Amino acid sequence: MLLKILGGLYGQALGDAWAMPALLKPQDTWERYGGWITEFLPGPADHPVHYGLAAGQITDDTEQAFSLAKVFIEEGKVTPEGAARAVINWYDMIDGDNTPYVGPSTRRAVAAIKAGQSLDVTGRMGDTNGAAMRVSPIGLIHPGDLEGAVRDAHLSCIPTHNTDVAISGACAVAGAIAVAMVDGTTIDEIIAAGMKAADMGRKFGYTWIGASVSRRIEMAVEITRRDMGDRERLQELYDVIGTTLAIPDSVGSAFGIFVMAEGDPKQCAIYAAQASGDADTVAAMACAIAGAWKGAGAFEQEIIDTLRKVNSDYDFDQVAQGLLTLAQA
Ligand SMILES: [Mg+2]
Repeated sequence: MLLKILGGLYGQALGDAWAMPALLKPQDTWERYGGWITEFLPGPADHPVHYGLAAGQITDDTEQAFSLAKVFIEEGKVTPEGAARAVINWYDMIDGDNTPYVGPSTRRAVAAIKAGQSLDVTGRMGDTNGAAMRVSPIGLIHPGDLEGAVRDAHLSCIPTHNTDVAISGACAVAGAIAVAMVDGTTIDEIIAAGMKAADMGRKFGYTWIGASVSRRIEMAVEITRRDMGDRERLQELYDVIGTTLAIPDSVGSAFGIFVMAEGDPKQCAIYAAQASGDADTVAAMACAIAGAWKGAGAFEQEIIDTLRKVNSDYDFDQVAQGLLTLAQA
């Protein structure tokens, strides 16, 4: 169990850091790097939000996931108040006011929370993928428990992403990870769990505009199983499903990439980087599912060493241990 939790954390960080240097369009990423991204690379100087980041450095996705995990571990449970505290802790730590990679829903919600508004309303406009990009710890503490993952994923969304579409996307990722934690689970079972959790999550939150996350997952998986070349399938994913900040797009694409990579964490990262757009978030979600499924043993030592060294503020072992205690509680 500890190895699966650690695998989920490694996956989250690997996808985030690996795909961080990708550009906005698949063709541009391909041309810039002369083909697939096959190693950790620094954020390019002309990237709108990742300029200046070191090779192997994580971004907001994993920073927030760790921040949430830390608070949930300290408090022994998942609550909207804890999630709000975790997001504020992270925002202040990275000097969010002066950092370009804070997402739009989170930035809005942080301002509202800091202004003293009730958590019942601070997330009512939050409809982008920040809810799903950080949710992996919740899947990791609910091995085999889809209902528990959905319940806690919903609670974690309330302060910043309290809309049906955002909660649906977060539940899809948390639910898939929860089921991926069970030994012997198949890729098809993980996809089915993600879709079911997406539909369960869609019943919560303020009504908002958004495509069905479960239908997008279904469509993305169908695209990535087509008999086409890898680059063509990723281009199709980019064109039809999308790798945008919209949560049905990026969550759908993450599931498609998980299937296309047959659940291999590093291959998920390579594919998601080439799919471009909000690549770090798509990769973080796909790789977190893959890492939880395959466990820490599926990661090359060199990748683990780089993630630990570059992101030395984050203690993977301690967080994994804390999440294990929560999972067993
Ligand atoms: Mg990011």
